[in-house]
Amino acid sequence: MKYSMSLLIVIAVLVTASCQTKPATMKTQVVSSDQWSAHIPSAIERVEKSEEEWKKELSEQEYYVIRKKGTERSFTGLDLLNNKKEGLYTCRACGLPLFGSDTKFKSGTGWPSYYAPLKAEFIKEDTDYNIGYARTEVMCAQCDGHLGHVFPDGPEPTGLRYCINAVSLDFVEAMPEEKMADK
Ligand SMILES: [Zn+2]
Repeated sequence: MKYSMSLLIVIAVLVTASCQTKPATMKTQVVSSDQWSAHIPSAIERVEKSEEEWKKELSEQEYYVIRKKGTERSFTGLDLLNNKKEGLYTCRACGLPLFGSDTKFKSGTGWPSYYAPLKAEFIKEDTDYNIGYARTEVMCAQCDGHLGHVFPDGPEPTGLRYCINAVSLDFVEAMPEEKMADK
């Protein structure tokens, strides 16, 4: 009896802990499209935090992908994957705008795909051999957060496919001024 009680307590604690994990859905912010450019900084401002700080700020899944260079299962970030609204995709860890909706395309891979970054200098690249062959890893240049990889099989005009984890991104919707008034 005592054993089953403690087992119940363990289960209750585990269930509570899993409920506290932040959902893996993107945060959406809406800005007027007139102010869109104000959301794109002219230069990056480095963000450096300890692993302890990142652990506190990010959900378990975000931490695993963004800080430990993990990969989410494909088709997990459906809200972001299927998002067709106009706006900016920002780094979930530091908020830097990384991709514009105009370069997003349907790749069929189950991961959000873009053919170009918003600004080349906002993205950092590195070669990774984690799965036995060389791939080009892409990171946020402001906080070094892992985003995904870039492959040379994308559509025109660049021929590149930035294959990005949905959990690494949030979204800022750009809305025309007249629509903002309705909100
Ligand atoms: Zn970042």
